[in-house]
Amino acid sequence: MDIKEKRVIFTRNEMFEMNKETLKNRGVTIEQIADITYMQQSKYTDGVTRSVCVESVEKILSLRDVFHHVQLAAEIDRLAEKGLLEGPIQDIIYADLGLFGIDEVMGLDVSGLYGIIGQTNFGDIDVNKHGIVKTLNDDGKKEGVCHTFLDDIVGGIAAAASTRVAQVMSEETAHEDIGIKRLSIFDF
Ligand code: MG
Repeated sequence: MDIKEKRVIFTRNEMFEMNKETLKNRGVTIEQIADITYMQQSKYTDGVTRSVCVESVEKILSLRDVFHHVQLAAEIDRLAEKGLLEGPIQDIIYADLGLFGIDEVMGLDVSGLYGIIGQTNFGDIDVNKHGIVKTLNDDGKKEGVCHTFLDDIVGGIAAAASTRVAQVMSEETAHEDIGIKRLSIFDF
């Protein structure tokens, strides 16, 4: 089959399943991402549940742009671990050079999906290295391991999920204010 004839458009459910599998293969679970979301958003909003955090992470993992981000990020790291990139970029990515910054750009891009405040959330995660992001960062320093892109994508997803939780809960509050009960919080 010609490479150009291969299937490249997937359903949201397929993209979610592939992202879940890719993250698992790279040592990250949905629950670990949702832990960051819960820790971050429960500081600012009363009544945040773990289930709305997990639901938000799952929703984000089914989006096409995020699918492309996760797949690309995981693959760059995997290739860098095996020394399969060529030229100076192999060493720059493998070394996780602080001045590189393109990994942060990808994380920032994902973090803004549900509003600009997501970029502030991402900055918090990037600087303070919560939960699985710290684990990825620490493990990435070991010989033969590269998490240069993955830590930022995971941080970006957690940050976007925090923002989605805030948006969902604001919507509920607004409906309560005018006395209209929403049917579902999962319409976003
Ligand atoms: Mg990074």
